[in-house]
Amino acid sequence: MSAEAGSVADRLALIDDRIAVAAREAGRSPAEITRIVVTKFHPASLVDELYGLGVRDVGENRVQEVLEKVDQVSEAPGLRWHFVGQLQTNKARAIRRVASVVHSLDREKLADALDADSDDPLDVLIQVNLTDDPGRGGVSPERLGPLAEHAAGCRGLRVRGVMAVAPLDERPAEAFERLASHARTVREIFPDATWISAGMTGDFEAAIHAGATHLRIGTAITGPRPVRG
Ligand SMILES: *Cc1c(COP(=O)(O)O)cnc(C)c1O
Repeated sequence: MSAEAGSVADRLALIDDRIAVAAREAGRSPAEITRIVVTKFHPASLVDELYGLGVRDVGENRVQEVLEKVDQVSEAPGLRWHFVGQLQTNKARAIRRVASVVHSLDREKLADALDADSDDPLDVLIQVNLTDDPGRGGVSPERLGPLAEHAAGCRGLRVRGVMAVAPLDERPAEAFERLASHARTVREIFPDATWISAGMTGDFEAAIHAGATHLRIGTAITGPRPVRG
């Protein structure tokens, strides 16, 4: 099957079917899984189209792009923006204003920058690096506990769980099993932190089998990303 085939509506329906099948195979309910459509590099008009198809969760990974797009989309009550990219501390406040969820909390300084004296805490996920390469983003498993403890002191943040990207050189199923154990580490500090953000176009079924609650699916639904210069 080609990701380019058909319309956005067709691809969305197809992916939702595959999510439902994988969930049932794993003995889970599709209703406990949130499918986030990653719209990075695509215009705001695609977000409008997805909204019209019932999508309420979209993901972006670049600060400037999401800030622009939030202003460009048509009125879309209930639309939630998920920020899934690496985040510099000096952009944290801007992202806090527009994002419903930040999936990429990976260090104490970023927790402090995202924190706010607010009665409306920001939902965050701690991104865990499942590789040995520090450049891949995410906190190392060794530092996960201390980061979670630190975040527990930030009253403007609500830690909901963990996020990860599967390594390129390992079977995703194995990596996602490790992520499930990291999720348990976080739940020792935050018993309600039940979210696991994992699974992209190439590996979302494996993620569902390993307990993912939030899938971040881009190209399988949007088609290939336009090339940017
Ligand atoms: C781009 C991106 C995705 C979606 O990737 P696809 O392979 O297009 O599904 C998911 N998560 C993150 C962090 C991304 O940057």
